Amino acid sequence: MKRFITINRGDEESKRLCKYIRESMVKKNFTIDEKNPELIIYVGGDGTLLKAFHEYLDILDNVSFVGIHTGTLGFSTDYTAQEVEEFLENIDNEPVIEEKQVLEVECYNTHTSKHYYALNEVRVENIVKTQAMDLYLDSTYFETFRGNGVCISAQYGSTAYNRSIGGAVIYPGLELLQVTEISGIHHRHSRSLGAPLIMNPNIQVTLKSDSFDHALLCYDHLHIHLDDIHEIRVRNSDKRMKFAHFKEISHIDRLNALF
Ligand code: NAD
Repeated sequence: MKRFITINRGDEESKRLCKYIRESMVKKNFTIDEKNPELIIYVGGDGTLLKAFHEYLDILDNVSFVGIHTGTLGFSTDYTAQEVEEFLENIDNEPVIEEKQVLEVECYNTHTSKHYYALNEVRVENIVKTQAMDLYLDSTYFETFRGNGVCISAQYGSTAYNRSIGGAVIYPGLELLQVTEISGIHHRHSRSLGAPLIMNPNIQVTLKSDSFDHALLCYDHLHIHLDDIHEIRVRNSDKRMKFAHFKEISHIDRLNALF
């Protein structure tokens, strides 16, 4: 992995660290290649990774990501800013590549469909009015949900928004889809599952409603308005996001460090 780029969060510390990494790596005969990188080094935190992921979606097959952490919390990063020399030593080693599922979402209105990808989660969320929607698993009707919305995630996003709303934290290596309710309404006239639903990754989750007025589709840190949409389909995509691990960190250590 000799061709690389760096991406940073935009704060002074991350910019300075990026400059130092670039200069040090060029001295070690690595090449900065903005168009065709093999390695994306992101300096910042989990949000920096999400931005890099969306910016380089088209070349995901050819790149791997490694993170250096300068923020307050980092789940995805393997090194802290204080460990930058260790990173520069390790970078000559062959990394272990860890692949993560990427979610795909299509939003339909009567005329067109729009298509997006997400690493952490896809959420349909309405904080203005009760959102009613029918959930289908593949083509089978499952339930009618009423409440604020639903969050659909895979393994990587299980520790993000999903965890905050009572979803299960999933250990790496498991491919799946998880649907978690956001403030579901449960009383004698309205009841949905009321618990996270974990399914095999081949199932497509379809959400249909007569009105998604005021609702948002949030995919990672991005969002669109759903006012003219009546059907949303979420599934596991063919894309994979790859982490390059130049040192070993157990998932339990990551969980302990963050939570
Ligand atoms: P951000 O980048 O500031 O992230 C918000 C928090 O979520 C940060 O503490 C970040 O470290 C953590 N985070 C993000 N992805 C994670 C992951 N995969 N595992 C563990 N922690 C993770 O905020 P943003 O720029 O809006 O980023 C969007 C992401 O932040 C969303 O995809 C969502 O999962 C997460 N988020 C979580 C909550 C919540 O838990 N209540 C609220 C908003 C956003």
